[in-house]
Amino acid sequence: MSRFWSEVARGLSPYVPGEQPRHPRLVKLNTNESPYGPSPRVLAAVADTDGDSLRRYPDPDASALRAIIAAEFGLAAKQVFVGNGSDEVLAHTFLGLLKHPRPLAFPDISYSFYPVWCGLYGIEAQRVPLDAQLAIDVDAFPADCGGIILPNPNAPTGRLLGLDQIERLIAGHSDCVVVVDEAYIDFGGESAAALVDRYPNLLVVQTLSKSRALAGLRVGFALGDAQLIEGLDRVKDSFNSYPLDAIAQRAAVAAFEDRAWFEDCRRRVVATRERVAVSLGALGFALLPSAANFLFARVPGGAARALFTALREEGIIVRYFDRPRIDEYLRISIGTDEEMDRLLAAVEAWC
Ligand code: PMP
Repeated sequence: MSRFWSEVARGLSPYVPGEQPRHPRLVKLNTNESPYGPSPRVLAAVADTDGDSLRRYPDPDASALRAIIAAEFGLAAKQVFVGNGSDEVLAHTFLGLLKHPRPLAFPDISYSFYPVWCGLYGIEAQRVPLDAQLAIDVDAFPADCGGIILPNPNAPTGRLLGLDQIERLIAGHSDCVVVVDEAYIDFGGESAAALVDRYPNLLVVQTLSKSRALAGLRVGFALGDAQLIEGLDRVKDSFNSYPLDAIAQRAAVAAFEDRAWFEDCRRRVVATRERVAVSLGALGFALLPSAANFLFARVPGGAARALFTALREEGIIVRYFDRPRIDEYLRISIGTDEEMDRLLAAVEAWC
């Protein structure tokens, strides 16, 4: 990189998103996207966008979207923050911890963007190891951290913490913000959104990229005490005061309006996940219990990389993590039943 950039910029090792390869019969099970399209109401909202709404700047408050999200969770609009995917919401959250005198704690292993943002913003990171079963141990978080962030269910393991454990963590760290990243919560967990009114230090972050099938639209949101949200608004306004483009705002509202579509898609994903888990178990895979739209499976003989490569040759893309402790596992997103049958057939042929 050019020597004209700072040492910090030159030293960055950014998060690498899952690949989007081309293959005539591609089965893409590597980035936890929904196998089902978004609600037809979302597509209609996109198609109905008129020139005037594109000519003008979008609503800087995303009022309609924040109102419908607030209603969905029984909160007030001032307890809702929206952004371009939960990645941006999380990045703003990290900025809110800039120059905090104490470190930000997160599980090791969890979402690999967390250490990247710490590096970018110069936030001290405190990694909290998973237990022997690759679960998050809420009692292992240090008492004196400057903030805590954890995915629930965790990624890439899919393991879920109960709301009782989340509440113990929040209550036990009342002098720091606890961010619960619920990207996958709709596939089997109970949201900590229900605790927002009781804990001013809780920030719940969700996305429309997974259970609402809108990864391409880039919409995420945070729920929290009005003062926490105000801080996020200040960070956002110091960066780009328009949180979401006009199309994203309209389409995201439509996604929340179609509850039946959402319920049906997530029910189908969960049913397929359970079926595939049984089939992989019968083939000798050791699976962690998943509450997400993916399975985290230990490959027989620890041959994860070999199976990853063999599947790739068949046009089936899953995720391999080249990291100690999880390098014998593959993370497999849940696709349609037909896609998962192709995966199972390829795995069986490989075994
Ligand atoms: N959090 C976790 C744990 C994730 O796995 C992802 C998806 N990569 C995100 C946040 C970001 O999702 P998005 O930016 O699409 O909302």
